[in-house]
Parts: sequence; structure tokens; C-alpha cells
Amino acid sequence: MDFNDTPEEAEFRAKAKAWLEANAPKERASGRGDEGHMAAAKAWQARKASAGYAQITWPKEWGGGGGTPMQSIIFGQEEAKYGQNYGYFQIGLGMCVPTVMAFANDETKARFVGPAVKGDEIWCQLFSEPSGGSDVAAARTKAVRDGDDWVINGQKVWTSGAHYSDYGIVLVRTDPDKPKHKGMTMFWIDMRAPGVEVRPIHQISGGSDFNEVYFTDVRISDAQRLGPVNDGWKVSLVTLMNERLAVGGGTGIDYSTIMTLARDLNTDKGPAMADQAFREKLADWFVQSEGLKYTRFRTMTALSRGQTPGPESSIGKIIAAGQLQELSNAAVEMEDQYGIIDDGTISPLNAAFQAGLMSSAGLRIAGGTDEILKNIIAERVLGLPGDIRVDKDVAFKDMPTGR
Ligand SMILES: Cc1cc2nc3c(=O)[nH]c(=O)nc-3n(C[C@H](O)[C@H](O)[C@H](O)COP(=O)(O)OP(=O)(O)OC[C@H]3O[C@@H](n4cnc5c(N)ncnc54)[C@H](O)[C@@H]3O)c2cc1C
Repeated sequence: MDFNDTPEEAEFRAKAKAWLEANAPKERASGRGDEGHMAAAKAWQARKASAGYAQITWPKEWGGGGGTPMQSIIFGQEEAKYGQNYGYFQIGLGMCVPTVMAFANDETKARFVGPAVKGDEIWCQLFSEPSGGSDVAAARTKAVRDGDDWVINGQKVWTSGAHYSDYGIVLVRTDPDKPKHKGMTMFWIDMRAPGVEVRPIHQISGGSDFNEVYFTDVRISDAQRLGPVNDGWKVSLVTLMNERLAVGGGTGIDYSTIMTLARDLNTDKGPAMADQAFREKLADWFVQSEGLKYTRFRTMTALSRGQTPGPESSIGKIIAAGQLQELSNAAVEMEDQYGIIDDGTISPLNAAFQAGLMSSAGLRIAGGTDEILKNIIAERVLGLPGDIRVDKDVAFKDMPTGR
């Protein structure tokens, strides 16, 4: 692949740059979770949607831009320079709404897709449970049919953004007599429906980005079903494929960011950049980053040829998350006692390394843990023998639970 823009791409980039220059706020709103922060994020999303830049690859009739994946990547690269990525819409537009678009009836799509693109409504993904995160098919939250309705009882956990979400997609057990992958169904739900209780989880960073969500006799209509009854596993694969693509991107910190810090910083032993041990690490990060860059180019090549990127997006995710943790850790250590100051107005580079250190452990778990991604790479990229799956053909109700 030629990594330079084609003439058409260069034209699109110039147009996007000019639009961003004229429209993007120059300041990024602070205070994640505050009303003002959310309002700024919604306003920016609406402005992008009105210009066709919100979901560039989606058809215009759904509020998208009717553009190509390469245009979407180009816009993302240019938008990143303005720091306006707030993260409230990523799960909805990256995972939930594409699932709704693939499996809902026309009426449901007409109702929900537009408001999500404009940022009027936010979605969350309710898959993980105390009994299983890596093993999504271990879901115990159940839905029991009652006439034209279903009644949901159970608990989800680690649900990002549930506390500010309007809607969610939820994976539930509908037939415990079938093996675990064959007895689940997917529904969309209103997060404010009676019986849905959201309890924020307090994090090390001081924030609360994710939640426990409890369902007590939550009654929903069969019209809220996404895909056939007991086919929820196949529906969830569509969501999860989109998830790995969404979280496999860059983290905003790389070897060049830490090089900038090391050039400016004097330690007890002299300039940080002169430290031999640090320079060795830097060389490793450089090699890793170059590998990551070309792996991403491979994904972009697949997209530009109209192909769906394969499990290689797992490679991007595992390397990017691990590198963020190592780099942030090294930078915070380098800052010595000042490393504990997590304040964008004082800490170097807007406290990017402190934020990276706090979030990287979670990033190594969310969207597939390191171990799960290694299994995927081993089985589907390298063609090695599969993981042992002893419960594949056992009825869910007969699986040992330890109780
Ligand atoms: C920041 C963040 C945001 C999240 N947001 C959401 C969300 O919005 N919605 C949602 O549904 N979930 C969300 N999650 C949950 C996430 O999907 C799960 O945490 C993840 O899938 C791991 O599941 P678990 O926590 O139950 O760990 P487990 O699956 O119990 O894993 C525990 C350990 O065992 C290892 N392990 C498990 N199975 C295997 C295996 N077969 N082979 C080798 N090792 C294995 C794992 O790698 C891990 O080290 C989020 C998590 C985080 C950290």
C-alpha cells in the first residue's frame, strides 16, 4: 500500500481541516461526567452530524456522511489534533447502534439511529456479569417470556457509561436447557425502565466511569428483541467485532511523547535523556510503535479494499494497552516525587502520563484481556490448536457453579 493520501484523500483531508479550523472549539471542556462536559460533548457531536462528519461511513439516510473508511480515518486523525474526543458516544456508535442497525426492525432503526448519531441519546453495552466477562456466554441474567413481553432479572457489571446512558443492549439467558452459547438472546432496553437500577463503581482515579446494573422484574416488549430467540451469541459477535476495532486504536501516548518529557527533565543523575537504561527502553518502544503502525496500516489497507479487518486488530489492542502502561509508569517514575501530582495545570504534558497510568490497567482488561487476545492470535492468526472448551455441549443449567 502507498501510505500517502491519494488525490481524492488529500482533497478530503484539506476539506476536513478547513471545516475543523472553522468549527472545532479551541478549548477542550474539563470535568468528565459534569453537566458542562457532557453538554460540550453533545454540542460537538451535533455539529459534526450536521456536516456529515459524525459517522462518516454510515449511509446519509441514517444521519451518516455516506463516505469511505479511509475518509473516516483521515477525519479522526485531523480531529485528534483538537482534543475533542470525549468518549461518551464511542460505545453506542461503535458497538450498540451497529448491532441495532444489523438486527432491529425498520421502525426501531428509524427511531434510534438518528438521535444516537446527533449525540442526543447515549447507549451502553450490558454484557459482562459477575459470573463471566471473558466468557460472555456465561451470562446468568435471565429473561422469561410472558405473553408478548419478557421479564428480566439478574445483574450486569462493569457497564461503562450506564449512569448517563439512555438505552442499552443487554445479553440475557433465555433457555438454560441449551448449551451456553445456544440459549441467549439480545434485547435493547430503556435504562430508565422500572426495575433497572444503576450503581456507579468508584475507581482508583477518583472517577466513576462504569457501574453495576441490577434488573428486578424489568418488563420489556418482544419488539425489543435483536435477532432470533436464543441466537444472542451470534448477535453479540457482531458487537464484539466492532468493540475490538474501536479499542484497538492509538492511546495518544507513544515513544515520542516520553522523549519530549525526557528531553526537558533533569533527574538527580543528570538529564533523563542521557540515562542508558532509559535509552534502551526507548529503543524497544520505538520498535514496538513502528510494528504497531504497520499493523494498523494493514487494517487500513483491508478497509480501503472494502474488506473487514480480521483478528489482527487484537494485536493492535494488546500492544497499545501494554505499551501505555509501561510508558506511563516509566514517565511517572522519572518525574520522581512530582509524579504523584495528577493535575493537568501542573504536571508535564497535561498530566497525560498520570491519566495513562490510571487507565492502562483497565484498558488491558476491557474489550478482551491480554490472555484472551493471545488465545485469539494463537488460534486465528497463527493457526495453533484451540483452547480447551469442556462445557461446549453441556446444558447451561448442568454446568458446575461451585454452589
Ligand atoms: C475499563 C473497563 C470498561 C468496561 N466496560 C464494559 C462495558 O461497557 N460493558 C460490559 O459488558 N463489560 C465491560 N467491561 C468488562 C470487561 O469486558 C471484562 O472485565 C473483561 O471481559 C474480563 O472479564 P472479567 O473481568 O469477568 O474477568 P475474567 O473473565 O473472570 O478473567 C479473569 C482472569 O482470567 C483470565 N482468563 C479468563 N479466561 C481465560 C482463558 N480462557 N484463557 C486464559 N486466561 C483466561 C483473564 O485473562 C483474567 O486475567 C469493562 C471492563 C473495563 C476494565
